[in-house]
Amino acid sequence: MEFNILNHFKGLEHQPQDPLNANEIGTSLFLGGNMGDRISKKMDGYAKSAGMSRRNFITSSLGLSAAMFAANEASGMEFFEVTKDEISDLDANKEMMQVARASSDFIVDVHTHVCTRPGHYVLGKNTSERGMWFVQLLDDLGKAFGLKNGTLDMNVENYGKLILENSDTTVGIYNPFGFAEHYGGQDMVPMSYQAAVRKQYPKNTIMLAGGLTPNQGLSKTLDRLRMYAKDYQISGLKLYTFDATPKKGWWFDDEKLAYPIWEECRKLGIKNIGCHKGIPFGQFYARYAHAEDFDAVADDFLDLNFIAYHSAWPYHAEIAALKSFKPQRKNLYCEVGSTFAATVSSRPLECAHVLGTLLRDLGPDYVLWGTDSLLWGNPQWQIDAFRKFQIPDELVEGYGYPKLTPEIKRKVLGENAARIWNIDKQQAMQAKIGLRAEAVA
Ligand SMILES: [Zn+2]
Repeated sequence: MEFNILNHFKGLEHQPQDPLNANEIGTSLFLGGNMGDRISKKMDGYAKSAGMSRRNFITSSLGLSAAMFAANEASGMEFFEVTKDEISDLDANKEMMQVARASSDFIVDVHTHVCTRPGHYVLGKNTSERGMWFVQLLDDLGKAFGLKNGTLDMNVENYGKLILENSDTTVGIYNPFGFAEHYGGQDMVPMSYQAAVRKQYPKNTIMLAGGLTPNQGLSKTLDRLRMYAKDYQISGLKLYTFDATPKKGWWFDDEKLAYPIWEECRKLGIKNIGCHKGIPFGQFYARYAHAEDFDAVADDFLDLNFIAYHSAWPYHAEIAALKSFKPQRKNLYCEVGSTFAATVSSRPLECAHVLGTLLRDLGPDYVLWGTDSLLWGNPQWQIDAFRKFQIPDELVEGYGYPKLTPEIKRKVLGENAARIWNIDKQQAMQAKIGLRAEAVA
């Protein structure tokens, strides 16, 4: 079967209806994935043992645990730590959930977005055909995960509702989309719009700037960077080395085009610089999604952190090799948004290889949690799946991957990000309790 990450979510057997119900979303992805048929057949028996209808079962927390349990059975490998009790008994399921939550209750989602703007996207008016292609892709994603109006629903309000109030995420780090050439000369998601997220949730969000490409002119780029630092007090950058200019892309290690940006970051005190790597989608050139430019820039700017978003999957071995053969490096990071979501439910063996490679080569202190929500709706199912996920013994022995210990999971889920963004954990946790209380009330 051809695997197309961007089509994977289409044609789900079970279309999630409730965007707040993350179990439903996660289970649907397992059912629609590579092992979906085999998992689906087992679900009837599991539902019966639990004394529930298939529909009720699938939309409950038992359904998601059962999908993971079935994935173990179907593959013959133990990817998920799920017991038989957890798939038949709601109380046992809840108890295990609480144990998992207690063991990793501080979660920083490094990779999140809002995906709209005032005036939204209208073909021919403020959006080109190429621009519309990307909007359509995100619309389809949102609809597949219960957001009925697609990108229109990926707004500030739902950011708070889905990521901060109805998932275990403590802090969401988010960034805008640029590609202004495709969107009537204005960034697809302008800083002025996305700033409302932080305004509303100041203690539980961190805002990154984006939409910068030196192919729009280096001095313009530097001016915008300075403006973002001054007017928006940004906490870092997340950029794209493929872009919508006629030049199509650029590299982080370009001494003429890019180094002045990093030098300016130094002056402005901006330390964390991310870039979309891997997932070479749509009209963009795949060559700019490779991570080789991180090699020189990481050496030349030792005081800055460089973060490969998506962990450069499917080129994750490239980013990993930049550390495994240069173990002295301390400023190279990766983030697992969309990569984890797309592989864990459909190709758990690949998921184990990706996480195993990153943790073995970059090291447990350099892998960051991210979900790419709101593109994937409510991120809670991803958090639950990661808490349950394990690298099977065969791979630990055969590849030298580490086991996913509770300590490693805590580092990935929050501690590593807290360290590099100087997050006041206590304050964020306190504010999170307040948000939960509001959501319940
Ligand atoms: Zn993203």
